[in-house]
Amino acid sequence: MAEIAAVPAPPLNTPQSNNTCGLWAIDATCEIVLDTKHLLQPEIKGHEKINLPTYAFYIYNPRLDKRVLFDAGIRKDWWNLTPKVVSDITSGGVTGLLVKDEVYDTLAAHHKSATERKEESIVDPDTIDAVIWSHFHYDHVGNIQRYPKSTSIVVGAGFKESILPGYPIRKDAPLYQADFEGRELIEISFDTGLKIGKYDAHDFFGDGSFYLVRTPGHTVEHISGVVRTTADTFVFLGGDISHFPGMYRPTAYKPMPATLPIETYLDSRLPVPCPCSLFTVCHPNHSKDDDDHAARTRPFYQPNEKSAWYYSTAMALRTVESLQEFDADENVFVAIAHDNALRDVVDIFPKGKMNEWKANKWGEKSHWHFVNELPVDEKPGRGVLVDGLMKEGKLYQ
Ligand SMILES: [Zn+2]
Repeated sequence: MAEIAAVPAPPLNTPQSNNTCGLWAIDATCEIVLDTKHLLQPEIKGHEKINLPTYAFYIYNPRLDKRVLFDAGIRKDWWNLTPKVVSDITSGGVTGLLVKDEVYDTLAAHHKSATERKEESIVDPDTIDAVIWSHFHYDHVGNIQRYPKSTSIVVGAGFKESILPGYPIRKDAPLYQADFEGRELIEISFDTGLKIGKYDAHDFFGDGSFYLVRTPGHTVEHISGVVRTTADTFVFLGGDISHFPGMYRPTAYKPMPATLPIETYLDSRLPVPCPCSLFTVCHPNHSKDDDDHAARTRPFYQPNEKSAWYYSTAMALRTVESLQEFDADENVFVAIAHDNALRDVVDIFPKGKMNEWKANKWGEKSHWHFVNELPVDEKPGRGVLVDGLMKEGKLYQ
């Protein structure tokens, strides 16, 4: 099988700056399992379940001494979410859910132990200036009421109109009205004309170190983050812009190589060297001729048009197509909120920052990592992270 020449991706035109932010990936210790068909099409035999570990991100601007979270995981007692959300979770869509700790507690435990050891703490959760919500879903908003009232909430355009007021004022609200009481709620309007790639962008700190970009589709107000990790490298925080990297990989910009690069993190069941044909055989555009060109240059999946889990699948598809341009850039590391590659490849809080991702070759190690989740000979790649909805160590009734 011959290699396929890459088509150059359109330039992202990221603004210049020497200002960077520290960036840490936090394991939100929330594992979710869904029927893949709720999110993705077409169906691929052997990949009926999708594993969603969950990550939040801590961003520190040293120039302005500002601390923000991009997403905040889920509350541990998920059965105390609003009635509408609990009913959505328990009515069949979610087949596995387990939460071990809240992001607030992970940060607080680190701060306490670092302080006791007289070491420098990375962050005290009571000093977080803002929690940015990629979107309003329960696995991203965290237990916001545990943060001090000085912590503001930052959301994308359209949030207030589509989400407020909270429960119990609106009986079917996904969030509590108390989440917002006494707390600043900042809705980003994206009206300055700034663009990065095809996305409307907002310079969050006003110093070029961190941008928010408008990425609607999964929900109307969905936003993503672009953190400048060194002067010319970035991490794209995708939230739920996509739930599976096979939705934006491979592309003509970054075709699947005949043999996966040796840096790729692969489970021990897979051969080394690993031919891509093991996986392209389950690709919807697989063909036996032409070096399997279509399967190696088009993503495995698209948003499921019939799914009720999107605000607009057409919009979600456009948004994820623009993400492919970021993913093709060797100076951008794409990290979606439920990316299975992170725990295998990336240093997780408090072990280390993400800033040196390029020097550490995390891009090479993780780009094709999603094949670990794909079936070989129609047999599932990895087992489910959790089977059943778990409440305090037992199955939720
Ligand atoms: Zn999510």
